[in-house]
Amino acid sequence: MKIRDMLHNDTVTLSFEVFPPKREGNVEVLYATIGDLIQCNPNFISVTYGAGGSTRDMTVEIASHIKNEMDQEVLAHLTCVGSTRDDIRRILDDLKDGHLENILALRGDPPKSEGVFIKTEGGFGYANELVEFIVEYDDFCIAVAGYPEKHTEATTMADDIENLKRKVDAGADFIITQLFFINDHFYRFRDLAIARKISVPIIPGIFPLFNYSQISRIGSLCDPDIPSPLLEKLYKVRDKSEEVQKYGTEHAIRQCEDLLKNDVSGLHFCCMNKSDHVLEIIRELSFTGQKADSSDE
Ligand code: FAD
Repeated sequence: MKIRDMLHNDTVTLSFEVFPPKREGNVEVLYATIGDLIQCNPNFISVTYGAGGSTRDMTVEIASHIKNEMDQEVLAHLTCVGSTRDDIRRILDDLKDGHLENILALRGDPPKSEGVFIKTEGGFGYANELVEFIVEYDDFCIAVAGYPEKHTEATTMADDIENLKRKVDAGADFIITQLFFINDHFYRFRDLAIARKISVPIIPGIFPLFNYSQISRIGSLCDPDIPSPLLEKLYKVRDKSEEVQKYGTEHAIRQCEDLLKNDVSGLHFCCMNKSDHVLEIIRELSFTGQKADSSDE
């Protein structure tokens, strides 16, 4: 099923993001984790596409397995990094063969060794070009990335919103945002998008922290604001992973409660291939998939 057909005005989708493990033997562990996650009836599972080619072949394989063997809808991430148009066409063929209907079209992060994104000769320079190519190829449902705190390479927020508009005009059906820890950033971003006549659903990305080292890793990727009281609490318990997870989970619950009161189209959790903390959040939210207004009626 196409995810665009799940996005309705009165409902909130639930989705989980996982990544292909670096070692092949760990795929079974991932499938067991997904088996746990699907207990709370997500609308779809998204599978990331490894930066720089490390795990990218596994994305299609894992996405096909989740769709065809686990009977779950999937959003397969796809990036422009290191691929020509012909390479991308072959991946689209494989996605089609695997009965996959939904793609998150991204420019991609460069491999660590390169540091900056370099367009592959015969490939694409920006995600909007990839969206155009997919639209021409076939009727996939297409998602694109949005950045509540601006993409790190964009000069201004206005430029970044203009880019988002280009991606949506090229044919994107919905937006999933970069992770954030302060909801006001998301609300401001959503207002700017609406003011720029971007009318497709925007799903916020939630990252429940469970390990202190994640803070610097996330910082190097997208540098989100983290509320100082949360940072201070996490610093005090930095060597006690259970306590870090407790504070990270509590924060994510508060964030989601507020988002659900503010008319979001969905909740998308970056699970980091772990289920217990996310299942706790969903339990605490008593998530029904209905927007606050419509369930109150
Ligand atoms: P684009 O939309 O192409 O934008 C890239 C930059 O170029 C932005 O600064 C934009 O403002 C600017 N720009 C765009 N068009 C133009 C133009 N015409 N002229 C000038 N500037 C322009 N990365 C992975 O490698 N694998 C993944 O699986 C993955 N999953 C992700 C999932 C989500 C939900 C998100 C939010 C990000 C994900 N990323 C992933 C990270 C993403 O690839 C990076 O953030 C990347 O740096 C930008 O990708 P994009 O698709 O947003 O790029």
